[in-house]
Amino acid sequence: APDHTPDYLTRLNPEQRAAIETTEGPLLVLAGAGTGKTRVLTSRFAHILLSGRAKPNQILAVTFTNKAAREMRERVSAILGQPADGLWLGTFHALCARMLRRHAEYVDLTSGFTILDTDDQIRLLKQIMEPFRLDTKRWPAQGMLGVIQRWKDRGLTPERITGAEDSDFAQGRAQEIYAAYQARLVQLNACDFGDLMLHVTEILRTRPDVLAQYHRFFRYILVDEYQDTNTIQYLWLRLLAKREGFAANICCVGDDDQSIYSWRGAEVENILRFEQDFPGAHVVRLERNYRSTVQILGAASGLIAHNEGRLGKTLRPGRDDSDGEKVQVVGVWDSDEEGRVVASRVAELRLEGHSLGEMAVLVRAGFQTRAFEEQLIAQGIPYRVVGGLRFYERAEIRDAMAYLRVLAQPADDLAFERIINLPRRGVGAAALQKFRDIARSQSVSLSAAVGIALENATVKGKSGDALRTLMQCLADGRAMLGREGHIVAVEALLEDSGYVPMWRADTSIEAPGRVDNLRELVRAMADFDSLGAFLEHVSLVMDNDQDAGEAKVSLMTLHGAKGLEFDTVFLPGWEEGVFPSQRTLDEGGLSGLEEERRLAYVGITRARRRAIILHAANRRIYANWQSSMPSRFIDELPDEHIEVVGQTKAERRRTAQAESLFAAGPMVARRERSGPHTVSPRPERCDIPLGARVFHQKFGYGMVIGVEHDRLEVNFEKAGHKRVIASFVEQVS
Ligand code: ATP
Ligand code: MG
Repeated sequence: APDHTPDYLTRLNPEQRAAIETTEGPLLVLAGAGTGKTRVLTSRFAHILLSGRAKPNQILAVTFTNKAAREMRERVSAILGQPADGLWLGTFHALCARMLRRHAEYVDLTSGFTILDTDDQIRLLKQIMEPFRLDTKRWPAQGMLGVIQRWKDRGLTPERITGAEDSDFAQGRAQEIYAAYQARLVQLNACDFGDLMLHVTEILRTRPDVLAQYHRFFRYILVDEYQDTNTIQYLWLRLLAKREGFAANICCVGDDDQSIYSWRGAEVENILRFEQDFPGAHVVRLERNYRSTVQILGAASGLIAHNEGRLGKTLRPGRDDSDGEKVQVVGVWDSDEEGRVVASRVAELRLEGHSLGEMAVLVRAGFQTRAFEEQLIAQGIPYRVVGGLRFYERAEIRDAMAYLRVLAQPADDLAFERIINLPRRGVGAAALQKFRDIARSQSVSLSAAVGIALENATVKGKSGDALRTLMQCLADGRAMLGREGHIVAVEALLEDSGYVPMWRADTSIEAPGRVDNLRELVRAMADFDSLGAFLEHVSLVMDNDQDAGEAKVSLMTLHGAKGLEFDTVFLPGWEEGVFPSQRTLDEGGLSGLEEERRLAYVGITRARRRAIILHAANRRIYANWQSSMPSRFIDELPDEHIEVVGQTKAERRRTAQAESLFAAGPMVARRERSGPHTVSPRPERCDIPLGARVFHQKFGYGMVIGVEHDRLEVNFEKAGHKRVIASFVEQVS
């Protein structure tokens, strides 16, 4: 009877409920975007707990991102009505890191091992490759790292590489380098990201006692985004889930149309093989999409239908509201305008009362966020970059920023506390408390309190001397700011305070990279006129993973957006060579293109209410402007679900071509680039008559009052008298 149905089971459709209540045995939920797969996993987690089938730490739950893990933890605690701590819930890597700390000795590490980041890995590889005397142009450390990562994704330790998996990288010596690299990591008591999975899987493979322990421990296994598991993740899961004479309680959810990580070794076949791997598996399909409007679903479904070899899934609208807005396709002149258009649309939506937290800009490649960041900053719109710009999150950068903040703001106590004993100045907890007391009793800042304590000689000895030096450096730095500018002042401060020398003296393998980062920080300051301007810029970027507080527009890559949803989604850069990427086009294969199309499908299906696709006719690639063609994916969107803003669909391709030629000419010439470029006149003639009413995507509606070749003089209703290029207006009457 419905009265007895627990709350968390009521807001589900019958298929979803079946997926949650079938707790025993293997289960695969295969369903399209937005059908509630993740919701099923979360509710299933809660159901297992609330029905007393397992304790919280007896469930192993794998998410694709840390953000998704956080969300699931929150949703589970909400359902449970209490905080959910100590759960085995996280990404593959986070879960493996935790396991590896418990069994590190089996792979000759101690539980305090360090996890290296990419920079560290590259630096280490360079050292290791040096004695091999290879041509570093042809065989760079970065390339070697890629080879090693692919091997690790496939579960291959150096010993497991046989002829077939060998690489011709580094003149056939890649395996040797790999072995040397692994050995060196052990000496350093370190491992890289790929090792987390590799080591743990190796331990589970070779240590039946450890494996048996986890088998007893984990009663239920839940896996999100199963279509994107790679071989090593699959091996790890299988080891944990499968045991003799027992049907594993493993539930995987996924969507073959959203498989977008094959470049990182993901094998969509894992999902197709589920029923063979786990005999007796139930398969549940979900068909109602509760996320997006009819228009958005229609556009996304029409696009993905161009892929071959799909499992084929029905996707029906599950929301009972109206069809919603059509997907907008906006053509702009160049990448600068694209940034402006997005930022102004964001500002407009915000004025209409939409929350910035419900808007996202999803780009194909990480570097593309910069252009939007600049425009958002210019318009004063708060944003965060999800999963990017880790630069400003690094410890040494945060330390240095604390120095800079104190330099600019002596009263910034938080920053001052961070640097007061960094490098070590013998300031212990007791001394710090004394400074805090002085600050409170005299109503001054912490740094002023230190000044007072020094004057009264309350701090003596070495620590007193060290603090005196720090205060002197800060005072000198402030004086230099005015005289010599912020760069010189900051360099001097970081040097004389002992902060950079501390890293220079450090012999750990991360230390040189940290010094490089600090140098890069000073370089980045050159783009700003003052220390204040730089600090403001960085604080905007640095705040990025703080979910609390002010709502912000999210900027991220399409890959990073998987599983997420927003009311409004901007999808810029839909041009041939950007999306699909140039690399995909160069490779020319069908599978690469299909993966790009799945990525486009993931992008559109992130939107609940509004999806806005943009393409620019000109884009700056490095220092040069290049013309670009609208993405083929735009043409593949069904007409009935899209609204073309600015130009009609048929005109788009044609004008983009013509406009870009026209545009490339003078710009290239101005840059004094010689080459085969000719400035060709626009081949089309303008057929918009005098007196016509037209629409321009930036200036709005207006009346044509003059025609001259391809240029129109228009009296715009709002923007006034302007000269515009004919192909950029649309005749509306
Ligand atoms: P993706 O493939 O993008 O990861 P998904 O299948 O995991 O999507 P969810 O994120 O779980 O889908 O759900 C999409 C949205 O639909 C969420 O906002 C969720 O709360 C909502 N939803 C799911 N099931 C229902 C339902 N039965 N009734 C109402 N809303 C639902
Ligand atoms: Mg999901």
